[in-house]
Amino acid sequence: MTARMTARTTVTTPTREGSAPVTASRVLVLNSGSSSVKYQLLDMADRSRLAVGLVERIGEETSRLVHERLVGADGAAGAGGDKRERLGPIADHEAALGAVAQELAADGMGLDSPELAAVGHRVVHGGTRFTQPTVVDDEVLAEIRSLVPLAPLHNPANVTGIEVARRLRADVPQVAVFDTAFHSTMPEYVARYAIDAATADKYSIRRYGFHGTSHAYVSRATAALLGKPVEDVNVIVLHLGNGASASAVRGGVCVETSMGLTPLEGLVMGTRSGDLDPAVVFHLARVGGLSVDEIDSLLNKKSGLLGMCGDNDMREVLRRAGEGDEAAATAFASYVHRLKKYIGAYSAVLGRVDAVTFTAGVGENAHQVREAAVDGLAELGLALDLEANAVRSPEPRLVSAEYARVAVAVVPTDEELEIATQAYALVTQ
Ligand code: AMP
Repeated sequence: MTARMTARTTVTTPTREGSAPVTASRVLVLNSGSSSVKYQLLDMADRSRLAVGLVERIGEETSRLVHERLVGADGAAGAGGDKRERLGPIADHEAALGAVAQELAADGMGLDSPELAAVGHRVVHGGTRFTQPTVVDDEVLAEIRSLVPLAPLHNPANVTGIEVARRLRADVPQVAVFDTAFHSTMPEYVARYAIDAATADKYSIRRYGFHGTSHAYVSRATAALLGKPVEDVNVIVLHLGNGASASAVRGGVCVETSMGLTPLEGLVMGTRSGDLDPAVVFHLARVGGLSVDEIDSLLNKKSGLLGMCGDNDMREVLRRAGEGDEAAATAFASYVHRLKKYIGAYSAVLGRVDAVTFTAGVGENAHQVREAAVDGLAELGLALDLEANAVRSPEPRLVSAEYARVAVAVVPTDEELEIATQAYALVTQ
């Protein structure tokens, strides 16, 4: 698996003729959305972050770029950052990346630098074709484009990001890292829906899974936290952000995940319903008279915590539930109940579980969610150290009771570092 790539060879790039080659160890990570670009520049020599930033509301009058330099003027990591904001219209992704390049250049880390080894792109859908990080050429780009019907909201923006970055630095490898790739190891009987096989094949209907870079990073970090080789560890990863997914990872290999053809399946999320009887869709169409697009929007954007109680931010849900708000309490209870079901199901799938790991915005920060999800699961070997669980920390940590058979861990996810690691390993192998 890509997750195991640990190549540490350095790339050397010739500079101008006659001058000494430069060690290229920087990777620019781009996460291009339809109206935003998130970026990070990392130095893979020591895995340090040099700069992070975000361009949002691309194409509007009120575009905004926030850029933060994370190294001192002398290049020393942690030597005091510098945050800058730029307001005003940014017409398209080309202009957005141009503005990012200017900000990086102002910090002495321009994209024209020979130190840039690769650009790593988050690509949401790799279909069944892309199961590894891949250097993008014309053919690969065409194939990513051909997957747009499977991810109509995400893949077009990812393609645009790659095209623009390619124009900016045609000589530097552009590496696509796919959100679906880590899940490609799921057995066929897990990936298939129990529907007519010919229809499924005709329309590429199967379970792909998402958040793969996070599940890969966090499952590996969990093994490190336990002090064991990744091959020896079975872990249930609960990625609980605004989108949320669970995965069952056996010895570093994903065997099951909760998201499916799209990110709609599985857990209760901020605005998505997760699992529901597919007949709800027919009922809404036949009885409610809703169009397919209206149902799509209802289930993806107006369901989950938001649909149930009017708030998708777990902090608000917790605050309201604490004040006795019934809708918020029910939404919280549904969220936690679904989590418990997946922990139970994935315990059965794995047979032996070494750890359950919480990650992403809710998983890392909401001790109440962790406490409620694990409560009553002693028969599965799960018990918390409530004091340890209540402590906020940016570090990976164990929060299980000492006597518990299964470790419960909190591991901050780092998708950008994972993308940079995979991209760098590919160009230096
Ligand atoms: P992510 O998608 O990983 O950025 O996670 C975003 C979600 O994390 C938001 O919807 C918040 O509900 C949740 N979140 C962030 N901080 C906290 C916190 N301190 N307590 C509970 N939830 C939080």
